[in-house]
Amino acid sequence: MELLRPFSDEVRIDRLGNVIGVKRCGVAGAKKLLLDAHLDEVGIIVTGIEEGFLRFHTLGGIDTRLLPAREIRLLTDPPVSGFVTCLPPHVLEKGEEDKAIPLDKLFLDIGLNQSQAERMVKIGTTGVFQSEMKILGEHQVSARAIDDRAGFAVLLRAAELIQSVGQAGVDIYFLGSVREETNGAGAITAAYGIQPDWCVAVDMTHGRTPDAPREETFPLGGGPAVGVGPNMTKTLCERLITLAQERKIPYSIEVMAGNSGTNGWHFQVSREGIPTAVLSVPVRYMHSPVETVDLRDIESTAQLLSAFVGMLGHEVRAC
Ligand SMILES: [Zn+2]
Repeated sequence: MELLRPFSDEVRIDRLGNVIGVKRCGVAGAKKLLLDAHLDEVGIIVTGIEEGFLRFHTLGGIDTRLLPAREIRLLTDPPVSGFVTCLPPHVLEKGEEDKAIPLDKLFLDIGLNQSQAERMVKIGTTGVFQSEMKILGEHQVSARAIDDRAGFAVLLRAAELIQSVGQAGVDIYFLGSVREETNGAGAITAAYGIQPDWCVAVDMTHGRTPDAPREETFPLGGGPAVGVGPNMTKTLCERLITLAQERKIPYSIEVMAGNSGTNGWHFQVSREGIPTAVLSVPVRYMHSPVETVDLRDIESTAQLLSAFVGMLGHEVRAC
């Protein structure tokens, strides 16, 4: 709320926990543009306690191979830290070395006995990766929850750019949505409540590493990926691509042949349907504690988004 306040005429938190900042253009009955980034992150939920060790499930898509020896911060008050159990190679049974450890063989060790653990941590407590933000090289930042806090940074930077070029021709709703990683409830309810005329979901796509398939990944520093496919509205995609070319903003095209895996999926079918675009920032190691993003991509995504906003209401009619 505090971050949105300088760019909004009104900021509120809705019943589900979404943060919504509204920047009005001053025209009565103006069309509404919804710009979204989700504020939730992947994590875990405690399902049981055995000998003081916590059983858990993952929340959102976490590769369980990443979990052993990771630090997790439980969202108790005050927070409790723990490590996911891992067996040293010396005591692994023969043939187990190459196998991923199933979730039912992993526990969270918070250093307590059964009765202490029962007092400290209720079943259903959630937790997140614990890791520090690091600067890598000249342009990259690594941290947990870059997916999709970097998307929210794009929204804030776009808001700043929009403000500096003067009034947009539409009312802009900046949405920091909840629950994207689990059930999309934040996007579903916010779009229903706001009833926008257009939506842009800003989220993450997969950044390239030497071991990654080239056709499914995008280079860091190469700008946003503009989603094209059945979840997106063609005219909006074309506008974004044309604008990127005109303004010499680096970009890629990401073909999303089905579910975009973003809030755009929910926006598109809200009420009678909403023209939707998806802009994605490449991130390496998605859904890990060391998600890595290039700051230049945050800037170029914001540049493209603000150019898009500047055009709406003046040039584009409903699609
Ligand atoms: Zn995600």
